[in-house]
Amino acid sequence: MTDQPTLATLTEEQLADLIAKATAFRNQPSLHQCFYPGCLREFDMAARMDGREPARPSWSGAGWRQVTRGPSTGSVCPDHVGIVTEHLPRTVDVPNGRWMVACACGWMSRSQIYGGLLRPLWEEHLLLAAGELAAPVTLAEIPGRLSLDEHTEASLAELYEVLEDTEHDRAETREAAQAMYKAWDWHRKAFGGIARAVNAVCNMMRLGVGDTRDWSADRHDAYLWAVLIGWDDDTLKNVAARHRWNEHRVRYVREMRALLSPITDPQKQEAAE
Ligand SMILES: [Zn+2]
Ligand SMILES: [Zn+2]
Repeated sequence: MTDQPTLATLTEEQLADLIAKATAFRNQPSLHQCFYPGCLREFDMAARMDGREPARPSWSGAGWRQVTRGPSTGSVCPDHVGIVTEHLPRTVDVPNGRWMVACACGWMSRSQIYGGLLRPLWEEHLLLAAGELAAPVTLAEIPGRLSLDEHTEASLAELYEVLEDTEHDRAETREAAQAMYKAWDWHRKAFGGIARAVNAVCNMMRLGVGDTRDWSADRHDAYLWAVLIGWDDDTLKNVAARHRWNEHRVRYVREMRALLSPITDPQKQEAAE
């Protein structure tokens, strides 16, 4: 403090220096940034209030706008005045101590308990509206789906009609399923009965073969055995030769045997699948 000049020792030079410093102090910029998310433009509020040129041309306040109400207040640069004006937000007090933000374009946020969420919600909406963010596909945004506030009497009536149609379709589908089940159940029982009967015949033939009868000796017996039980390939050739079966008959008995095998050899069928 000792080197501070007194009035008596103050030189012209020091006085000029002091005045320059005071002027610089008074003129120091008061920079305000655009509140549009991600925008870096600034303007010098002090220069604008004093009506003087800012220290840098880019700090000019020309065309800036102030937003003083709503969840997001501050300065908007000329680049963003248009979109922000289109989407000017206001805070809405909703019941049960909740808040939401309503946009000039008609968009509304969900209600929030914490008012501090309104600004980022609106900012997200703004960036989506400006096309700077890609909207996630939500249920309400799937084409053909309306959000609650978009519904009208007509759209509701349409929904109810679709619902009634669906209920009708469901009843029809259930009836069809029941009819199919009944048919399947009938065939299952019939098939089970046929299998038991055919196997009873096959068992009788097998049990009788060793002691009382050669099933290949008579051509009718050989034919029954070929279809109901089946000869192995070599035996079938011999049987065919002995009873002069032509190739068509051989093919035919093989085919009939194959048709019966699900009934007479169910284990073989399962193993083959
Ligand atoms: Zn901006
Ligand atoms: Zn909007």
